[in-house]
Formats: sequence, structure tokens, C-alpha cells
Amino acid sequence: MTSFTSCPDCMGLGKQKRRIKKSLRLRYLLELEQFEKANGEGTPPIRPEASLYICPTCAGSGLVSSLDFPKPDKENYPHVAIIGGGIGGTALAVACLHRGIPFTLYERDKAFDERSQGYGLTLQQASKAMEGFGIFDLDKGVVSTRHLVHNPDGKVVAEWGMRKWMQGSTKTSPKKTNIHIARQSLRQALIQQLGSDTTIQWGHQLLDFKDNKDGGIDLNFQVNGKVKTDKADLIVGADGIRSAVRSLLISEKRSPLRYLGCIVILGICPLSALENMNSHLLDSATVFQTANGNERIYMMPYDSDSIMWQLSFPMTEEDAKTLSTKGKKALKEEAIQRTQWHSPIPEILSATLETQISGYPVYDRALLRSEWLENSGKATLIGDAAHPMSPFKGQGANQALLDALSLARTIFKACRPPSNWREKGIRESVLTAFESEMIERSSVKVQDSALAAQFLHSEIALYEGNEPRGKVLKRKGKL
Ligand SMILES: Cc1cc2nc3c(=O)[nH]c(=O)nc-3n(C[C@H](O)[C@H](O)[C@H](O)COP(=O)(O)OP(=O)(O)OC[C@H]3O[C@@H](n4cnc5c(N)ncnc54)[C@H](O)[C@@H]3O)c2cc1C
Repeated sequence: MTSFTSCPDCMGLGKQKRRIKKSLRLRYLLELEQFEKANGEGTPPIRPEASLYICPTCAGSGLVSSLDFPKPDKENYPHVAIIGGGIGGTALAVACLHRGIPFTLYERDKAFDERSQGYGLTLQQASKAMEGFGIFDLDKGVVSTRHLVHNPDGKVVAEWGMRKWMQGSTKTSPKKTNIHIARQSLRQALIQQLGSDTTIQWGHQLLDFKDNKDGGIDLNFQVNGKVKTDKADLIVGADGIRSAVRSLLISEKRSPLRYLGCIVILGICPLSALENMNSHLLDSATVFQTANGNERIYMMPYDSDSIMWQLSFPMTEEDAKTLSTKGKKALKEEAIQRTQWHSPIPEILSATLETQISGYPVYDRALLRSEWLENSGKATLIGDAAHPMSPFKGQGANQALLDALSLARTIFKACRPPSNWREKGIRESVLTAFESEMIERSSVKVQDSALAAQFLHSEIALYEGNEPRGKVLKRKGKL
């Protein structure tokens, strides 16, 4: 496998700054001088900003291939303890590896597939960002080219996607590509970049951490029933929606889990179980959803051989918890009973094995605020630990991947020699800027995902308009 290292021409950022034209710079200086002479009266001139362009050396990935496996630069960069080897934590480890930033990745599970994590993800903006992790081809990913919305009788009320845009249009390239991939396949592709999964400290559950007298942090883990202590310069909580790191930094009372009023039931069905069906919806390149104003089912390719469904509907928190603990048989029965709709929905649900079904009440938290972390010293959060969101916009993993890349790029830029990050402190050098970018980018996704949990279970889901439901509403000013 090819190894990668940070692109020397853009310092791993994927973009370079265009020089500001001399004439623009001079004009600004002149206007500034006049403004100052007038004792600040009138409008102050705006400093010209350098525009960015895609780095031609690395084509925007921030990486170039290297003959050698990257080595950590322990002398110059902080040692990063990453808590949680899910999507965000593994991605951060990969991004640190490529930049020579020393790290240790700790995961509570004892092995990669200790628990079933069977659901699929849609990579939207992050499908391009995958190149920033040295993944140029997700061979287990499936690209969808059509998205349909139906009413329960099967009438199409909306359609979008590449196939629609290409019809009668002169456009030759898709607006964007959505890649559907099993969560575990994405995680595996990231782990492959690390060289081997032995890089991960499996079976390490973080208990707590505190500053030590050497200017670093001591971290305590539960490992095989014993407490083990390790050291680091920076701790990153990538430990999911019920993050232990977050609860040590921000009290649960300040931003408790917030129930979003609905439950999701998920299943994965092999296409081989539907061989007798002749439905254009089962072509492994179509995403479709069907709704009745209360229940909504969303179907997407899970991999080239199976389809994943996600049924959701409003329910009280207590009922949702009871149903999810009743087990797979009860979840399947509930799903079938609620979706006696057009073909191939009933057929897919009944052909799904109970072992492939799961169900959860849906939660998020109040939007993260910079000031909640300003006293967190050498600790920060990424992914669901920072900004959990409902799955209805398919953004949680996308944001976790973008967080990972952004944090590694900020560490690489802010801590490279001759920076004095040890004296300045990691918070001032790296974390404040990173958290501000992360919060600004992800907050809108958390809000939109919470709104989607409402409107997708209302008549709005059946709005006639060839665009994603949220977009139609935004355009009409109803969101
Ligand atoms: C049904 C469903 C569908 C979804 N669909 C999409 C989608 O289409 N697109 C999308 O972008 N997102 C989607 N998401 C969201 C996405 O899965 C999450 O946002 C994403 O996995 C978050 O990544 P993470 O690394 O922050 O957390 P996780 O992937 O949850 O990883 C956290 C890791 O931390 C470990 N851990 C926890 N506590 C500790 C501890 N104390 N010590 C050590 N390790 C610990 C856990 O074992 C786990 O491995 C979906 C989610 C669900 C439930």
C-alpha cells in the first residue's frame, strides 16, 4: 500500500494562498493612511484578503505519496491521546500519522468487531475529504445516481440526483457525488492507512485524566479489570454521543442528551433474498424514501449486494426505550405493521433477518459553545462527542471526518518549529482556533438535523418538488 506524507507546498492544507496584487495592497495602505489622518472618521478601508486555490502539487488532498511509512516527530509535535476508535478517532489518527504528529489511539472495545455496528453511512462533503486521509478510492462504496420520494401508494412526488440532472440537460458532470458505505468498511479503510490494527490500543476504556507536573496529562484507563496510566500532551475525546471525555469537561446538566421525539428502526437485507422481484428501486444505485406524514422509511444501497432501510416515526421517549429493549423480533414486527405500503417495501422488510435489525431512540444535545471549552486546557472534542445530531441529514460521520482533518491540519501548522506551543500552551496555539472552526461548521448541521427529525414525520415529507425536503423548505423560506 502507498504511504503518504504531508504536501510540502501547501503544508498539508490542500490549498495555497494567491499573492495579493501589489496595486491592491498599495491602494489599501493609502486609504488606511487617509482614514487615520481623518482621525478615524468615515468608513475604515477593508484589508484585501488573499484568495485560496487548490494546491497543484497534491490536487487538494494535502498529501503526497512517500516511499517510507511516516515516522512521528516526537521532538517537535505534541503527543495526542485519541479516545475512541470510531469514525472520527480513527480518521484523526490517520491524519496525524501522515503529518508526523505522534499519537496513541485508545478504543474501549476489545476488537474491531466486538459489537455489531451494522449500518451504512452516506458520505456527502466528506467523500471529497477522504482524499485528505489518503483514500482515493473507496472500493466498498456504492455511488447513488437517483433519489426518489414516494407516497405510500408508490406515486413519485420528488426526484433528484445525477440521472435527473442529466436528462435533457447539457450538464456533463454531477453536482456532487454521494457515496454509500457500511460504517465498518469505512472504519476498515481508515485502519488500513494506519498500517495495521495493532496500532490501536483495544480494550482501553478511559476513566479520567488530569494535568501532571511535567506540563502534560496523565490518563487513566480500565484495561482487563486493572487501571493503567499513560501520558500525553493533548487529549481528544472522539468517544461518541455518550462521551466520557465530554462529561469530564462539561457537566451533563449543562447539555444533557435531548430526545428528538422519534425512534429509528434499521435493517439490512441481502438483494439475493429479493431475486424474484423485478423492481427498478433495487438497482444498487437508487436511494428512495416513502412517507405518509407520520412514518417515513429511507432505503439506500448498503453495499453492492444488500440494501439498508431506516424506518422512523414519532414516539414518546419511554415507549421508544421500551420498544428498543424488547429486541429484534419486536422491532421487526413493529416495522412491518407500520409499512404495508407499495412494493418492494413490505417484501424487503419481511426478507430482512432479525439478526440484521436494530432500533434506537434519537438524541442530540444543545449546540456546543466555545466558552464551555475555554477552561478545558489540553483537552478537546470531535465528532459525536462534540456535536451529536439526528441521523436524518446523514451528517454525523461527515462532520466527524471534517473535524479530524481540521484538527490535524491545525496542530501541524501551529506546532511546527519554531513555534513555541509548549510555552504558549496547546489551547492558545491550537484548540481555540480549531474549536471555533468546528463549532461554526457543525452547528448548522445539528440544527438542520433536529428540524429534519420533525418535518420528515409531517406532511412536509411529501412536498412536491424535485429537491431534498429541507432544501425545498429553505428556498420557500419555511425553515
Ligand atoms: C442509524 C444511523 C445512521 C447514520 N447515518 C449517517 C450517515 O448517513 N452519514 C453520516 O455522516 N452519519 C451518519 N450517522 C452518524 C454517524 O454514525 C456518527 O455521527 C459517527 O459515527 C460519529 O463518529 P464518532 O467517531 O464521533 O463516534 P463513534 O463512531 O460513535 O465512535 C466512538 C467510539 O468511542 C469508543 N468509546 C466510547 N467511550 C469510550 C471510552 N470511555 N474509552 C475509549 N473508547 C470509548 C466507542 O466504543 C466507539 O468506538 C448515522 C448514525 C446512525 C445511528
